[in-house]
Amino acid sequence: GEALEGVTLDDLPLREDLRGSSPYGAPQIDVPIRLNTNENPYPPPAALVADVTEAVREAAANLHRYPDRNAIALRRDLAAYLSAATEVGLSEREVWAANGSNEILQQILQAFGGPGRTALGFEPSYSMHPIIAAGTRTEWLPAPRRGDFSLDAARAAEIIAERRPSVVFVTSPNNPTGGSLPLSDVDELVRSAPGIVVVDEAYAEFSSRPSAIHLLREHPAKLIVSRTMSKAFAFAGGRVGYLAAAPAVVDALQLVRLPYHLSVLTQTAARAALRHADATLASVAKLAAERDRVAEALLGLGFTPVPSDANFILFGSFADAPASWKSYVDKGVLIRDVGIEGHLRVSIGTPEENDAFLEASKEVGR
Ligand code: PMP
Repeated sequence: GEALEGVTLDDLPLREDLRGSSPYGAPQIDVPIRLNTNENPYPPPAALVADVTEAVREAAANLHRYPDRNAIALRRDLAAYLSAATEVGLSEREVWAANGSNEILQQILQAFGGPGRTALGFEPSYSMHPIIAAGTRTEWLPAPRRGDFSLDAARAAEIIAERRPSVVFVTSPNNPTGGSLPLSDVDELVRSAPGIVVVDEAYAEFSSRPSAIHLLREHPAKLIVSRTMSKAFAFAGGRVGYLAAAPAVVDALQLVRLPYHLSVLTQTAARAALRHADATLASVAKLAAERDRVAEALLGLGFTPVPSDANFILFGSFADAPASWKSYVDKGVLIRDVGIEGHLRVSIGTPEENDAFLEASKEVGR
C-alpha cells in the first residue's frame, strides 16, 4: 500500500504536455438538492424502467458474445428519432453512437485533430472541448464571445478564416451560458471554416431554435451535429451520445473507435429507453417553463440571469462566486462554479428543487 501511495505524478513518465493539467471535475457531493450537471431531474418512468430491465435480462443470455460493433439497430432507432424531431430524413448510415457525446467528440478529434492540428472554440463554453483536445494532442485555440456571452457570428467567422482550425466547436445552446444560435449564424461559421465544424447540440431539445441538422445536406464534407441522451432523454447514467453527419464521417470515425465500444447492455438499454422517448421528452416543456420561472425569480431577487435556451441558467453577480457556491452547498443545494468570475450556474430541477434553490438564493452572500 505505502509503496504504491508514495508514487506521485511527478515520478511517472507522463507526457510533458499533460503535466500540470487538471481532470474534468464537477464535484459529486451527496446533498439533498443536486442542480450541478444539467441532468433531467425526473427519473425514468416506471414503464421505461420495466422495459429496460426486461430487455437487459434477455440480452444477458448472450453476454458471452461481443456486441454488434456497428450498433446498427441503435443507430437506426436514433436516426428515426432525429428524423421525426427535425423532419430531416436520416438513415443509420448518417448516425453514429458512442459512450456519451464526450466519446463522440473524442473520436472526432482522434480522426480530424491530433498532433500538428488545431481545434477552436468560443469561450466560455463546454470545458471538455479543450480537455479532449489536450488528450488527443490537438492544439487548442480559444476564441472570444461578447462580454454578454453571446457569439458575434461575423467576428467568429473572421477568426475561423484567419486561424484555419482543423476542427471548430460551436455549442448551441452553449454550456455554461445558455444562449443558442440561429441557423444563419451557424451557416456563416461553417462557410468560413476550412475543415470540420462540430455543432454540439447536447441541449437541443430544450431550445426553441431549429437544429443544425437542417444544414447537413448543404455542408456534407464539413458539418457534424453532436447529440446526447444524457439531458432531455433522462439517460445520463446510460452513457449514450450520437451524431448526425455524412456517411463518410461515420467511416472516418470507424478508423479510430475501439471495437465493441458500445456494450450489449448499453445498446439494449438505450433502445428500450428510446421506445419511451415520448414519455421522457414530455419533461422538456415543463423544464423550459421552469427555466423561465427561475430566471424571472432570480431577476426579482436582484440577480442577473443570462438568457437561456437550455435546462440551466448562468447567473450573477457575486463578489466571490466560490464563497457563494460554498454557501449554497451549506444550505444543501449543489450548483456549479464554472470558473466565470462573479457567476454561478444552476441546472433546472423539479419545481420543488427550484424552490429550494430560490429560497437558498435569498440568503447566500453576494
Ligand atoms: N456537450 C455539452 C455541451 C455538454 O454540456 C455535455 C455534458 N455536460 C456533453 C457534451 C457531454 O455529455 P455526455 O457525454 O453525457 O453525452
